[in-house]
Amino acid sequence: MTGLIVQKYGGTSVGTIERIQNVARRIAEVQKTGKEVMVVVSAMAGETDKLLRMAREISDRPERREIDLLLSSGERISAALLTIALNALGCPAVSMTGRQIGLVTDNSHTRARIKHINATRAKQLIEEGHVVVVAGFQGISEKGDVTTLGRGGSDTSAVAVAVAMGAELCEIYTDVDGVYTTDPNMVADARKLDVVYYEEMLEMASLGAKVLQIRCVEVAKKYKMPLVVRSSYNNEEGTLICEENPSMERPLVSGIMYQKNQSKVTLRGVPDEPGIAAGIFDALAEAAISVDMIIQNVSAEGHADISFTLDTDHLQEALEVMKKTAHQFKPENLISDSNISKISIVGEGMRSHSGIAARMFRTLSDENINILMISTSEIRVSCIIDSKYTELAVRALHDAFDMKTAPAEANGPAQKKSP
Ligand code: ASP
Ligand code: MG
Repeated sequence: MTGLIVQKYGGTSVGTIERIQNVARRIAEVQKTGKEVMVVVSAMAGETDKLLRMAREISDRPERREIDLLLSSGERISAALLTIALNALGCPAVSMTGRQIGLVTDNSHTRARIKHINATRAKQLIEEGHVVVVAGFQGISEKGDVTTLGRGGSDTSAVAVAVAMGAELCEIYTDVDGVYTTDPNMVADARKLDVVYYEEMLEMASLGAKVLQIRCVEVAKKYKMPLVVRSSYNNEEGTLICEENPSMERPLVSGIMYQKNQSKVTLRGVPDEPGIAAGIFDALAEAAISVDMIIQNVSAEGHADISFTLDTDHLQEALEVMKKTAHQFKPENLISDSNISKISIVGEGMRSHSGIAARMFRTLSDENINILMISTSEIRVSCIIDSKYTELAVRALHDAFDMKTAPAEANGPAQKKSP
């Protein structure tokens, strides 16, 4: 449906009755201009956590099928209330659950993947002049059971619905103004980005940017659905997330991310022979522990050191697994460090410009910050450092890459202005 806009409202945007009424006024205004609108909602803020707590008060291991039915009710409540609010404003609206919108998923409860959406009924309702309000986060399995899409999943519902409806745009309304160059709570001159490319957003989401669920960005990229992240409290433009456009003026580095809750494990002096790394990481994979960076140093006399990093939440478990399997690898030493942070710079500009990693390393060294590990992708460089330098590193990099000014205003992309 050309011209159709899908708007997704997050939990804080529909967190109270007044906020629901505010959102309803926004939607009614858009509809008055003759635009077709479809809406996807999250549960009211805190609702999903509250429901989960109730289940866990009863059982340590509630059945995932029942959790899905329980959690899906949160989004039904907000969808129905918003629909009532729209109708009260004289804007004809109809709510739909995951089943009603025909959102079919696989059978994996609490983290289901969308298979397809049969949006015939929704299209008809919109053609008749209704606003359709969809309960996000939920679908129906091929078996016919209620499923949910993983925490933050209504972002993904919204994009999938936008694709199925042939919408021109999917707007994600939240409590921030858009995607920022870095955490504005840490760096006062962090800047809202006008445009972020899908690839960059995927890196940022995997590095812990909570503004969008990573699956949502994957689906948007696959179907080239433009996304706009913006605030439901004001009329600011927000951040457009779209395909690369070589003619656009862009900074070298778009975002600086940090992850504090990281740990490093080192197995010192393991035999330098085939099968050692395979054995270590098989054992961790079997325990469903995901590791992040891996480094192997070959030391003298047929021995090597292997280090890896992971979320501190999984450190104890990983150490237990390593101790249990130590007889296979016979490390001389098993050590861990839970005071590390991962600092990353992300930017499409790295594909076409050299020297960006070097500038990052130089900036850290100018601040006397030691780099413990490095990893890169085509559009990202990450360094592990002592966590007490996290703020210092993020601020220094934000300055070094001139990120407080938009590229058009700077003296060329990310060039330092001469004094
Ligand atoms: N209500 C769900 C959650 O809290 C889904 C969402 O908000 O996107 O994770
Ligand atoms: Mg969310």
